[in-house]
Amino acid sequence: MDAAINQQRLIEIPESVIDIDIMMGERTGTGHGVGSAAIRLVADAALSDPSVPFVIAAGLRQGRIPGRAGVRRRPERAMCADGAAPSASAEPMNESNPRFWKVFFEVYEALPRQGPGNRACAVRAISLCHDMPPAPVILDLGCGVGGQTLHLAEITSGPIVAIDRHAPSIERLKATLAERGLSERVQALVGDMAHPAQPPESFDLIWSEGALYNIGIENALRICHELLRPGGYLAFTDAVWRKENPPQEVKASFDLDYPTMGRVDDVLVAIEKCSFELLDHFTLPDEAWWDDFYTPMKLRIETLRSKYAKDDEALALLDQLAQEPEMHHRYSDYYAYEFFVVRRLPNRSMGCARSVNDTL
Ligand code: SAH
Repeated sequence: MDAAINQQRLIEIPESVIDIDIMMGERTGTGHGVGSAAIRLVADAALSDPSVPFVIAAGLRQGRIPGRAGVRRRPERAMCADGAAPSASAEPMNESNPRFWKVFFEVYEALPRQGPGNRACAVRAISLCHDMPPAPVILDLGCGVGGQTLHLAEITSGPIVAIDRHAPSIERLKATLAERGLSERVQALVGDMAHPAQPPESFDLIWSEGALYNIGIENALRICHELLRPGGYLAFTDAVWRKENPPQEVKASFDLDYPTMGRVDDVLVAIEKCSFELLDHFTLPDEAWWDDFYTPMKLRIETLRSKYAKDDEALALLDQLAQEPEMHHRYSDYYAYEFFVVRRLPNRSMGCARSVNDTL
């Protein structure tokens, strides 16, 4: 690995942070996903401890951590394509600074949700599931603090299992459920949607907003196919490009967080490949970005600016986070969030074939 790049990455690690280095052997040993698997194991073990708020895998080429452009967040996720170092120019501003993540979560965990979406879109997506049992059994994957889980609980009347791997989000959801008397009906679990530990063919509806891409869309579709009863529904959102040649700022943001992001047609191909029937898809309207996401985010950032008025480093990090809604103001015609509603065919079908790349 380039010594200059390595040196550039040296940062002071605070005492509360455990730093683990991984060294790959011969260059021919790279590119096989070994580093990725090792980091994933360590990260999963660490994240199973609720006192660990997040894991940062700095210096990895893919999925290094969150997107700023906002759209998608996988802050606690540690994974990489091949363990190689990214080019120095791809280095995000402050994300190798552990303080970034403290401030990041201070902003994000306080929001009603961690990505775009709203109740009206949830109602519209559910209305496309025309043949649902009266009290459907629902699984919400990558639920975050549960913005959409609570909407689902209002709109439907069956049991809900909500899973997210970020333990503090699940803690917050559990508290909200207790306040609203929903703890019996809605089960909030810390877990990995790649290994959801739920019985096969047990759900009438799987829901996932802004989260499936974290484990690769095709891989996620295959997992959902197995978990749905025949004839069951899957409703999910995914970020998509809607215009060619996005400005460099937008492209760089998505390249960091969702390098394989495609267009609506690419998702439709994956849906078909996985033997799902497409019921419909629609683009989230602008208010779904603002009402429960960017507007509260801007307010939260302002509140924290007062809290950190004398702390230049925190203020700079807040400025960095504030760029995301600004970018959406300027460039939202280049990308969108699309809601896809699909159905597992009523007769038992194969689902989609596994592909090694899907899991990366
Ligand atoms: N659905 C929520 C949160 C979207 S942000 C909303 O729309 O508001 C994406 C969420 O996916 C984050 O909460 C993140 O912790 C979660 N996530 C990412 N990878 C995951 C995985 N492998 N298993 C479970 N949750 C995951």
